[in-house]
Amino acid sequence: MVALNKQLKQINPETGFSAAARYVAQYRAEHPKASIVSLGIGDVSRPVIKPVLNAMHTAVDDLGSMDTFQGYGAYYGIDELREAILQHEYAQFGFTKDEIYVSDGTKPDATNLLELFDARCKILLPEICYPIYRNGAYAMGRKVYTAPVDKNFVMRVPKEHFDIVYICSPSNPTGLAYTRKDLKKWLAYCKREEAVLIFDNVYESFISSEDVPHSIYEIPGAESCAIELRSFSKKASFTGLRCSYFVLPRAIDGGLFKERTINRFNGASYVAQKGALACFRKDALRLIQKNVQAYKDNAAFLKHGFQDLGFQVAGGEDAPFLWVAIPGNTDSFAYFKMLLEEIGVVVVPGIVFGKAGDGFFRVSGFGSAKTTKEAMKRIANYYANQA
Ligand code: PLP
Repeated sequence: MVALNKQLKQINPETGFSAAARYVAQYRAEHPKASIVSLGIGDVSRPVIKPVLNAMHTAVDDLGSMDTFQGYGAYYGIDELREAILQHEYAQFGFTKDEIYVSDGTKPDATNLLELFDARCKILLPEICYPIYRNGAYAMGRKVYTAPVDKNFVMRVPKEHFDIVYICSPSNPTGLAYTRKDLKKWLAYCKREEAVLIFDNVYESFISSEDVPHSIYEIPGAESCAIELRSFSKKASFTGLRCSYFVLPRAIDGGLFKERTINRFNGASYVAQKGALACFRKDALRLIQKNVQAYKDNAAFLKHGFQDLGFQVAGGEDAPFLWVAIPGNTDSFAYFKMLLEEIGVVVVPGIVFGKAGDGFFRVSGFGSAKTTKEAMKRIANYYANQA
């Protein structure tokens, strides 16, 4: 029999998102009448906005005539979209269109970028992080190390050498963002160690704190050692459409990733890219902001709700997520099961994001206002009855 990739076995199915999702699915099947509301979702609950839909309808029609048909060729994204991304977000930092890549999701991008680096490179992750960085690196047979986080869930700068550092800010799952000061420390580390920072910035549109930079390139020096990833998924409901982008400065790869991309990717969907392009229209920007604000309002509501119940809660101001400490000594999977079985509320057990996450659970503001309020009401009633 052909030998399988042993590294894939390092992905622990017992503690991943899939285990939690399987548990909920099984519970639903066994209790078809149960009323279940979810605070666990990482998906959006608001539909794609009209200007984007209109642009995609036109794009579909483009494909119906050979005069406007678009096939292979736009490996790094269609020109107009890369230009729009550049003008709206990155020209101010001195980048060129050549350094912008459009792709089909930050989830694959975060791992695919590892193909740029030598397989022996040592990869560093915070011990509580978006699990895809770890599992994606395992799937590619890479060596992964973790660093502890401080009381604000910011990864501590190590003394040892690492080649590639992942930081997600604003963070999934903690809902907190790295401040300018935090990021300066990390950029100084990358400079000193000649390391590269992969900066996952997909929740950028949720930032409201003054001391949190919207882009890593606001900090001088980042342009020579940081790759920034963004996505249309959460801000513009592209979770099913799929369109993302990243800046890979020529100072890092001298254009090498272009060759890799031509050989490994045939570009994001034309229709999705035309939809993404419409996101930069003035009317679209307003609607996107409105949707983001609705998720932020849910997060603020949840934050107050948990705080009123005496929980220790982080996040929710610069990201749609809240990171909540579990009262008592319950492990996070047991607590997740208990909330589901007792009151029909779904949260994400912290262990999904690393062993150090086990005393916590994650909730999100991505639900509708109605389900968010219902879930919080059930949790409040549950604790009132325990008192
Ligand atoms: N990065 C982070 C931190 C995320 O939380 C998510 C989705 O939950 C993604 C990336 C995935 O983005 P995309 O939908 O563009 O693949």
